[in-house]
Amino acid sequence: ERIISANLMMEDQPVEYSLRPRYLSEYIGQAQAKENLKVYIEAAKQREEALDHVLLYGPPGLGKTTLSNIIANELGVNIRTTSGPAIERPGDLAAILTNLQENDVLFIDEIHRLNRSVEEVLYPAMEDYALDIIIGKGPSARSVRLDLPPFTLIGATTRVGLLSSPLRDRFGVVSRLEYYTVDELSFIVSRAADIMQVHIDEEASIEIGRRSRGTPRIANRLLKRVRDFAQVKGDGRITTELAEASLERLQVDPLGLDHIDHKMLEAIIKSFRGGPVGLDTIAATIGEESQTIEDVYEPYLLQIGFLQRTPRGRMVTAAAYHHLGLAMPKD
Ligand code: ADP
Repeated sequence: ERIISANLMMEDQPVEYSLRPRYLSEYIGQAQAKENLKVYIEAAKQREEALDHVLLYGPPGLGKTTLSNIIANELGVNIRTTSGPAIERPGDLAAILTNLQENDVLFIDEIHRLNRSVEEVLYPAMEDYALDIIIGKGPSARSVRLDLPPFTLIGATTRVGLLSSPLRDRFGVVSRLEYYTVDELSFIVSRAADIMQVHIDEEASIEIGRRSRGTPRIANRLLKRVRDFAQVKGDGRITTELAEASLERLQVDPLGLDHIDHKMLEAIIKSFRGGPVGLDTIAATIGEESQTIEDVYEPYLLQIGFLQRTPRGRMVTAAAYHHLGLAMPKD
Protein backbone atom coordinates (compact mmCIF):
# COMPACT_ATOMS: atom_id res chain seq x y z
CA GLU A 1 0.00 0.00 0.00
CA ARG A 2 1.16 3.52 -0.73
CA ILE A 3 1.39 5.84 2.24
CA ILE A 4 -0.36 8.47 0.14
CA SER A 5 -3.23 6.16 -0.77
CA ALA A 6 -6.55 7.82 0.01
CA ASN A 7 -8.11 4.45 0.78
CA LEU A 8 -8.74 3.41 4.34
CA MET A 9 -5.82 1.48 5.86
CA MET A 10 -5.40 -0.28 9.20
CA GLU A 11 -3.43 2.55 10.72
CA ASP A 12 -6.23 5.03 10.02
CA GLN A 13 -8.40 3.28 12.58
CA PRO A 14 -8.73 5.29 15.74
CA VAL A 15 -6.63 3.94 18.57
CA GLU A 16 -7.03 5.56 21.96
CA TYR A 17 -8.23 8.86 20.56
CA SER A 18 -10.35 9.82 17.60
CA LEU A 19 -9.29 12.37 15.04
CA ARG A 20 -12.82 12.49 13.65
CA PRO A 21 -14.60 15.78 14.26
CA ARG A 22 -18.01 15.31 15.87
CA TYR A 23 -19.72 18.62 15.19
CA LEU A 24 -20.13 20.76 12.10
CA SER A 25 -18.16 23.52 13.83
CA GLU A 26 -15.14 21.17 14.05
CA TYR A 27 -15.46 20.02 10.46
CA ILE A 28 -12.93 22.04 8.52
CA GLY A 29 -13.45 23.22 4.94
CA GLN A 30 -16.25 22.15 2.54
CA ALA A 31 -17.83 25.55 3.25
CA GLN A 32 -20.61 25.22 0.73
CA ALA A 33 -21.76 21.73 1.69
CA LYS A 34 -21.54 22.69 5.35
CA GLU A 35 -23.51 25.94 5.08
CA ASN A 36 -26.37 24.28 3.25
CA LEU A 37 -26.48 21.29 5.57
CA LYS A 38 -26.56 23.58 8.58
CA VAL A 39 -29.79 25.13 7.28
CA TYR A 40 -31.42 21.82 6.36
CA ILE A 41 -30.51 20.27 9.72
CA GLU A 42 -31.90 23.25 11.61
CA ALA A 43 -35.12 23.23 9.58
CA ALA A 44 -35.65 19.47 10.04
CA LYS A 45 -35.08 19.82 13.78
CA GLN A 46 -37.58 22.69 14.06
CA ARG A 47 -40.21 20.65 12.23
CA GLU A 48 -39.29 17.52 14.18
CA GLU A 49 -39.09 15.68 10.90
CA ALA A 50 -36.50 13.44 9.29
CA LEU A 51 -33.90 15.30 7.27
CA ASP A 52 -34.25 14.81 3.52
CA HIS A 53 -32.06 12.06 2.02
CA VAL A 54 -28.48 13.19 1.40
CA LEU A 55 -26.02 12.01 -1.26
CA LEU A 56 -22.35 12.81 -0.63
CA TYR A 57 -19.87 12.17 -3.38
CA GLY A 58 -16.21 12.79 -4.06
CA PRO A 59 -12.82 11.05 -3.89
CA PRO A 60 -12.00 8.78 -0.92
CA GLY A 61 -10.72 10.24 2.34
CA LEU A 62 -12.38 13.66 1.98
CA GLY A 63 -14.73 13.21 4.92
CA LYS A 64 -17.98 11.65 3.67
CA THR A 65 -18.26 9.16 6.55
CA THR A 66 -17.22 11.83 9.03
CA LEU A 67 -19.81 14.28 7.74
CA SER A 68 -22.54 11.62 7.90
CA ASN A 69 -21.78 10.94 11.55
CA ILE A 70 -21.79 14.67 12.24
CA ILE A 71 -25.19 15.06 10.58
CA ALA A 72 -26.69 12.37 12.83
CA ASN A 73 -24.99 13.88 15.84
CA GLU A 74 -26.29 17.38 15.07
CA LEU A 75 -29.77 15.98 14.49
CA GLY A 76 -29.56 14.14 17.80
CA VAL A 77 -30.46 10.79 16.24
CA ASN A 78 -28.83 7.38 15.92
CA ILE A 79 -26.82 6.41 12.88
CA ARG A 80 -26.75 2.91 11.43
CA THR A 81 -23.77 2.33 9.16
CA THR A 82 -23.48 -0.17 6.34
CA SER A 83 -22.18 -0.34 2.79
CA GLY A 84 -23.38 -1.26 -0.68
CA PRO A 85 -21.49 -4.56 -0.95
CA ALA A 86 -22.50 -5.57 2.61
CA ILE A 87 -26.20 -5.63 1.76
CA GLU A 88 -26.46 -8.76 -0.33
CA ARG A 89 -30.18 -9.53 -0.42
CA PRO A 90 -33.36 -7.44 -0.28
CA GLY A 91 -34.13 -9.10 3.06
CA ASP A 92 -30.89 -7.73 4.55
CA LEU A 93 -31.97 -4.20 3.75
CA ALA A 94 -35.53 -4.83 4.95
CA ALA A 95 -34.15 -5.99 8.30
CA ILE A 96 -32.07 -2.86 8.66
CA LEU A 97 -34.93 -0.56 7.69
CA THR A 98 -37.48 -2.09 10.05
CA ASN A 99 -35.03 -1.69 12.94
CA LEU A 100 -34.61 2.05 12.50
CA GLN A 101 -36.15 4.45 14.97
CA GLU A 102 -38.00 7.60 13.98
CA ASN A 103 -35.76 10.14 12.18
CA ASP A 104 -32.66 7.94 12.42
CA VAL A 105 -29.88 8.15 9.85
CA LEU A 106 -29.04 5.14 7.70
CA PHE A 107 -25.58 5.57 6.19
CA ILE A 108 -24.74 3.47 3.14
CA ASP A 109 -21.13 3.81 2.03
CA GLU A 110 -20.22 2.85 -1.55
CA ILE A 111 -23.87 3.11 -2.43
CA HIS A 112 -23.06 2.66 -6.14
CA ARG A 113 -22.30 -0.98 -5.34
CA LEU A 114 -25.84 -1.89 -4.23
CA ASN A 115 -27.29 -4.60 -6.39
CA ARG A 116 -30.42 -4.00 -8.40
CA SER A 117 -32.85 -6.06 -6.33
CA VAL A 118 -31.74 -4.33 -3.14
CA GLU A 119 -31.96 -0.95 -4.80
CA GLU A 120 -35.58 -1.60 -5.67
CA VAL A 121 -36.44 -2.05 -2.00
CA LEU A 122 -34.89 1.32 -1.37
CA TYR A 123 -37.14 3.28 -3.77
CA PRO A 124 -40.46 3.04 -1.82
CA ALA A 125 -38.51 3.22 1.44
CA MET A 126 -36.99 6.55 0.45
CA GLU A 127 -40.06 7.96 -1.18
CA ASP A 128 -42.92 6.83 1.06
CA TYR A 129 -41.17 5.31 4.09
CA ALA A 130 -42.69 2.01 3.05
CA LEU A 131 -41.58 -1.53 2.43
CA ASP A 132 -43.31 -3.65 -0.20
CA ILE A 133 -43.06 -7.30 0.63
CA ILE A 134 -44.32 -10.25 -1.35
CA ILE A 135 -46.18 -12.89 0.65
CA GLY A 136 -46.73 -16.35 -0.73
CA LYS A 137 -45.58 -17.90 -3.99
CA GLY A 138 -46.96 -18.38 -7.48
CA PRO A 139 -50.51 -17.26 -8.36
CA SER A 140 -51.49 -16.65 -4.74
CA ALA A 141 -48.57 -14.28 -4.13
CA ARG A 142 -49.58 -10.80 -3.10
CA SER A 143 -47.78 -7.65 -2.18
CA VAL A 144 -48.19 -6.13 1.27
CA ARG A 145 -47.07 -2.66 2.19
CA LEU A 146 -45.40 -2.12 5.56
CA ASP A 147 -44.93 1.33 7.05
CA LEU A 148 -41.42 2.31 8.08
CA PRO A 149 -40.45 5.03 10.52
CA PRO A 150 -39.38 8.24 8.75
CA PHE A 151 -35.61 8.16 8.34
CA THR A 152 -32.77 9.86 6.50
CA LEU A 153 -30.68 7.91 4.05
CA ILE A 154 -27.18 9.24 3.60
CA GLY A 155 -25.45 7.66 0.63
CA ALA A 156 -21.73 8.10 -0.02
CA THR A 157 -19.94 7.31 -3.24
CA THR A 158 -16.69 7.93 -5.03
CA ARG A 159 -18.33 7.13 -8.37
CA VAL A 160 -21.51 9.16 -8.68
CA GLY A 161 -21.67 8.39 -12.41
CA LEU A 162 -22.35 4.74 -11.60
CA LEU A 163 -25.53 5.53 -9.65
CA SER A 164 -28.74 4.68 -11.46
CA SER A 165 -30.85 7.76 -12.14
CA PRO A 166 -33.94 6.54 -10.21
CA LEU A 167 -31.73 6.24 -7.14
CA ARG A 168 -29.96 9.55 -7.65
CA ASP A 169 -33.25 11.34 -8.17
CA ARG A 170 -34.54 10.26 -4.79
CA PHE A 171 -31.94 12.30 -2.89
CA GLY A 172 -33.18 15.75 -1.93
CA VAL A 173 -29.70 17.00 -1.03
CA VAL A 174 -26.74 16.22 -3.27
CA SER A 175 -23.34 17.47 -2.17
CA ARG A 176 -20.00 17.10 -3.80
CA LEU A 177 -16.99 17.17 -1.50
CA GLU A 178 -13.94 18.98 -2.85
CA TYR A 179 -10.22 18.50 -2.32
CA TYR A 180 -9.01 20.61 0.62
CA THR A 181 -6.67 23.58 0.36
CA VAL A 182 -3.22 23.48 1.95
CA ASP A 183 -4.44 25.94 4.61
CA GLU A 184 -7.37 23.73 5.52
CA LEU A 185 -5.17 20.64 5.64
CA SER A 186 -2.56 22.32 7.81
CA PHE A 187 -5.37 23.31 10.16
CA ILE A 188 -6.55 19.69 10.25
CA VAL A 189 -2.97 18.59 10.98
CA SER A 190 -2.60 21.10 13.86
CA ARG A 191 -5.90 20.00 15.33
CA ALA A 192 -4.95 16.32 15.08
CA ALA A 193 -1.53 17.03 16.65
CA ASP A 194 -3.36 18.74 19.51
CA ILE A 195 -5.53 15.68 20.04
CA MET A 196 -2.47 13.42 19.89
CA GLN A 197 -0.72 15.79 22.33
CA VAL A 198 2.33 16.31 20.19
CA HIS A 199 3.93 19.66 19.54
CA ILE A 200 4.13 20.73 15.89
CA ASP A 201 5.59 23.91 14.39
CA GLU A 202 3.18 25.85 12.20
CA GLU A 203 5.55 25.59 9.24
CA ALA A 204 5.70 21.80 9.71
CA SER A 205 1.91 21.49 9.65
CA ILE A 206 1.85 23.48 6.42
CA GLU A 207 4.51 21.17 4.98
CA ILE A 208 2.44 18.09 5.82
CA GLY A 209 -0.69 19.80 4.47
CA ARG A 210 1.08 20.56 1.21
CA ARG A 211 2.01 16.91 0.70
CA SER A 212 -1.40 15.45 1.59
CA ARG A 213 -2.97 15.50 -1.87
CA GLY A 214 -5.90 17.61 -0.75
CA THR A 215 -7.04 14.72 1.47
CA PRO A 216 -7.53 14.79 5.27
CA ARG A 217 -7.10 11.04 5.61
CA ILE A 218 -3.62 11.32 4.07
CA ALA A 219 -2.82 14.37 6.23
CA ASN A 220 -3.60 12.45 9.42
CA ARG A 221 -1.63 9.43 8.25
CA LEU A 222 1.47 11.47 7.31
CA LEU A 223 1.25 13.22 10.67
CA LYS A 224 1.29 9.89 12.51
CA ARG A 225 4.35 8.71 10.59
CA VAL A 226 6.18 12.00 11.11
CA ARG A 227 5.36 11.80 14.81
CA ASP A 228 7.15 8.41 14.90
CA PHE A 229 10.28 9.98 13.41
CA ALA A 230 10.04 12.85 15.89
CA GLN A 231 9.86 10.42 18.77
CA VAL A 232 12.71 8.17 17.67
CA LYS A 233 15.03 10.55 15.81
CA GLY A 234 14.25 13.79 17.64
CA ASP A 235 12.93 15.00 20.98
CA GLY A 236 9.28 14.26 20.19
CA ARG A 237 8.55 17.73 18.82
CA ILE A 238 7.69 18.05 15.14
CA THR A 239 9.88 20.80 13.79
CA THR A 240 9.92 21.91 10.17
CA GLU A 241 13.30 20.26 9.48
CA LEU A 242 12.18 17.04 11.07
CA ALA A 243 8.92 17.03 9.08
CA GLU A 244 10.77 17.65 5.81
CA ALA A 245 13.36 14.96 6.50
CA SER A 246 10.71 12.43 7.51
CA LEU A 247 8.55 13.10 4.45
CA GLU A 248 11.68 12.74 2.34
CA ARG A 249 12.26 9.31 3.84
CA LEU A 250 8.64 8.38 3.23
CA GLN A 251 9.32 9.26 -0.42
CA VAL A 252 6.51 11.78 -0.57
CA ASP A 253 7.71 14.74 -2.63
CA PRO A 254 6.87 18.41 -1.92
CA LEU A 255 3.60 18.15 -3.85
CA GLY A 256 2.59 14.83 -2.33
CA LEU A 257 3.63 12.68 -5.29
CA ASP A 258 5.27 9.31 -4.68
CA HIS A 259 7.29 6.90 -6.79
CA ILE A 260 4.21 5.58 -8.60
CA ASP A 261 3.15 9.07 -9.72
CA HIS A 262 6.70 9.71 -10.87
CA LYS A 263 6.84 6.39 -12.70
CA MET A 264 3.61 7.09 -14.54
CA LEU A 265 4.50 10.64 -15.56
CA GLU A 266 8.00 9.60 -16.62
CA ALA A 267 6.64 6.68 -18.63
CA ILE A 268 4.37 8.99 -20.61
CA ILE A 269 7.20 11.46 -21.11
CA LYS A 270 9.91 8.95 -22.03
CA SER A 271 7.92 6.47 -24.10
CA PHE A 272 5.30 8.73 -25.66
CA ARG A 273 6.88 12.19 -25.77
CA GLY A 274 4.42 13.34 -23.14
CA GLY A 275 1.32 12.02 -24.92
CA PRO A 276 -1.47 12.08 -25.83
CA VAL A 277 -1.54 8.39 -25.09
CA GLY A 278 -4.45 6.08 -24.28
CA LEU A 279 -5.18 4.91 -20.76
CA ASP A 280 -4.78 1.24 -21.66
CA THR A 281 -1.39 1.87 -23.24
CA ILE A 282 -0.20 3.67 -20.10
CA ALA A 283 -1.53 0.80 -18.00
CA ALA A 284 0.36 -1.78 -20.07
CA THR A 285 3.54 0.29 -19.97
CA ILE A 286 3.70 0.63 -16.20
CA GLY A 287 2.07 -2.72 -15.45
CA GLU A 288 -1.04 -1.47 -13.70
CA GLU A 289 -4.78 -1.92 -14.28
CA SER A 290 -6.44 0.87 -16.29
CA GLN A 291 -9.17 1.05 -13.68
CA THR A 292 -6.66 1.58 -10.87
CA ILE A 293 -4.97 4.35 -12.80
CA GLU A 294 -8.30 6.02 -13.45
CA ASP A 295 -9.62 5.73 -9.89
CA VAL A 296 -6.52 6.02 -7.79
CA TYR A 297 -3.47 7.47 -9.54
CA GLU A 298 -4.76 9.99 -11.98
CA PRO A 299 -7.45 12.09 -10.16
CA TYR A 300 -4.92 14.02 -8.10
CA LEU A 301 -2.57 14.49 -11.08
CA LEU A 302 -5.51 15.89 -13.04
CA GLN A 303 -6.51 18.07 -10.09
CA ILE A 304 -3.07 19.72 -9.81
CA GLY A 305 -2.87 20.14 -13.57
CA PHE A 306 0.00 17.69 -14.19
CA LEU A 307 -2.08 15.55 -16.48
CA GLN A 308 -4.72 16.47 -19.02
CA ARG A 309 -7.45 14.29 -20.41
CA THR A 310 -7.94 14.84 -24.13
CA PRO A 311 -10.06 12.93 -26.64
CA ARG A 312 -6.85 11.29 -27.87
CA GLY A 313 -5.62 10.25 -24.45
CA ARG A 314 -3.65 11.55 -21.49
CA MET A 315 -1.08 14.34 -21.85
CA VAL A 316 1.59 15.46 -19.44
CA THR A 317 1.55 19.24 -18.96
CA ALA A 318 4.38 21.78 -18.85
CA ALA A 319 3.90 22.07 -15.07
CA ALA A 320 4.69 18.38 -14.64
CA TYR A 321 7.85 18.61 -16.81
CA HIS A 322 8.92 21.53 -14.68
CA HIS A 323 8.26 19.69 -11.41
CA LEU A 324 10.23 16.65 -12.59
CA GLY A 325 13.07 18.86 -13.82
CA LEU A 326 12.74 17.60 -17.38
CA ALA A 327 12.87 19.58 -20.61
CA MET A 328 9.70 19.64 -22.66
CA PRO A 329 9.99 18.61 -26.36
CA LYS A 330 9.99 21.68 -28.62
CA ASP A 331 6.89 20.66 -30.63
P1 ADP B 1 -14.45 9.26 3.35
O1 ADP B 1 -15.66 8.67 4.02
O2 ADP B 1 -14.78 10.37 2.41
O3 ADP B 1 -13.55 8.25 2.71
P2 ADP B 1 -13.65 9.89 6.06
O4 ADP B 1 -14.88 10.56 6.56
O5 ADP B 1 -13.42 8.49 6.53
O6 ADP B 1 -13.57 9.97 4.48
O7 ADP B 1 -12.43 10.83 6.49
C1 ADP B 1 -11.12 10.36 6.65
C2 ADP B 1 -10.46 10.97 7.89
O8 ADP B 1 -10.15 12.33 7.62
C3 ADP B 1 -11.37 10.99 9.12
O9 ADP B 1 -11.03 9.98 10.02
C4 ADP B 1 -11.14 12.32 9.77
O10 ADP B 1 -10.25 12.18 10.84
C5 ADP B 1 -10.48 13.16 8.72
N1 ADP B 1 -11.36 14.24 8.22
C6 ADP B 1 -12.17 14.17 7.14
N2 ADP B 1 -12.78 15.33 6.90
C7 ADP B 1 -12.35 16.18 7.85
C8 ADP B 1 -12.62 17.57 8.12
N3 ADP B 1 -13.43 18.30 7.34
N4 ADP B 1 -12.02 18.14 9.18
C9 ADP B 1 -11.18 17.40 9.96
N5 ADP B 1 -10.87 16.10 9.74
C10 ADP B 1 -11.43 15.49 8.71
